[in-house]
Amino acid sequence: MTDALRIDSPGAGERDRFSRFKLIRWWEQERLDRARIVVVGAGALGNEILKNLALLGAGRIFLVDSDSIEMSNLSRSVLFREEDTGRSKAEVAARSVRDIYPGARVRWLQGDVLTDVGLGVFIWADITLAGLDNREARLFLNRAARRAGRPWIDGAIEQLNGLARVFLPGGGPCYECTLGQADWDILRARRSCNFLSREDMLLGRVPTTPTSASVIAGLQCQEAVKYLHGLEVLAGKAFLFNGLTHESYVVGYERKPDCFSHEEPFAWTALGRKASETTLAALLETVRRDLGPEAVVEFGRDVVLGLQCVPCGTFEPVFRQIRSVTEKEAACPACGLVRNPKLAHGLDGREDFLGKTVAEFGIPPFDLVTGRRGREERAYLFDADAPSVLGPAWEEGDLSPRSAP
Ligand SMILES: [Zn+2]
Ligand SMILES: [Zn+2]
Repeated sequence: MTDALRIDSPGAGERDRFSRFKLIRWWEQERLDRARIVVVGAGALGNEILKNLALLGAGRIFLVDSDSIEMSNLSRSVLFREEDTGRSKAEVAARSVRDIYPGARVRWLQGDVLTDVGLGVFIWADITLAGLDNREARLFLNRAARRAGRPWIDGAIEQLNGLARVFLPGGGPCYECTLGQADWDILRARRSCNFLSREDMLLGRVPTTPTSASVIAGLQCQEAVKYLHGLEVLAGKAFLFNGLTHESYVVGYERKPDCFSHEEPFAWTALGRKASETTLAALLETVRRDLGPEAVVEFGRDVVLGLQCVPCGTFEPVFRQIRSVTEKEAACPACGLVRNPKLAHGLDGREDFLGKTVAEFGIPPFDLVTGRRGREERAYLFDADAPSVLGPAWEEGDLSPRSAP
């Protein structure tokens, strides 16, 4: 630490980027190097999460964010520069992560986690870190992580305050268990009565600082490191931090027995196919071969087949998930009324669009779909999408069965 101790030609240990971590008794750099980490959001929290992961030597990262960089982001985003304004947050953040740690294999996606990321990504991941600013995306992520049987670490910041919390799969409380009536009211306000998204609600601006982001993202990443080493984490609890008073405390959550997110992860069958190369008819045929001729397909996503204007007698085909269709888009170009979305979330064989591919229907690549006959169900994964979806973060054998770290 002092000049007297400094040596001009560092020893082999000092040339190793991670040598100081290895002084921690339980630290195994290899666990970080091979960890498959999903980061959702590249805003204030996401920047700090990604910076930490790069410094820690995280080897494989999948990053998703739908936004582009604005000037106002630069005060809270260590990975962005002024010349990056207008560019994709995910792309620029991924580049900066590789600048900090060239050993990182990062795949970025400019998209919406609710509609553009297949559940296979969460099955692939060892752990997901969230830098989100809304309950709807957290709820989606919570259900996706539980269905995949994977943990996720939430963070939230506002002004100088924040919280960090870990949700493990299995018997403990989940994010949805923490929601109260006020949260559900806010969630409902994001959707119109026919579930279209309200664009004005998507722009809720929360005052945040790089300092609170740093505190909370630091905790999230530290919990991730501990989880990856099999150490005890803040599971089913939250660390709350008050930046004005410097009070911090841990609260425990209760598991709600009637929570909708407690679907158990189940075994999936690899389809060996891509969503863009599989017709809906072929998918239904596969499911019926396994489960019988009355079996149906369920996507777990509501797709808008089209928008209908009753007064005008018009119908416009859409084939996009309802979460991505806004009220403004649904306005009838002729009369201005909000048209009725015609929805589908599955297939029973009577559809007139079975010639479309699963991708054309509005389902993202590498997604998990369900075949069902009565109470019997089976999950199917579009595993052939994995190499293209995960890019440099993908390795052959990643989807083989494995035990928790
Ligand atoms: Zn729950
Ligand atoms: Zn009309």
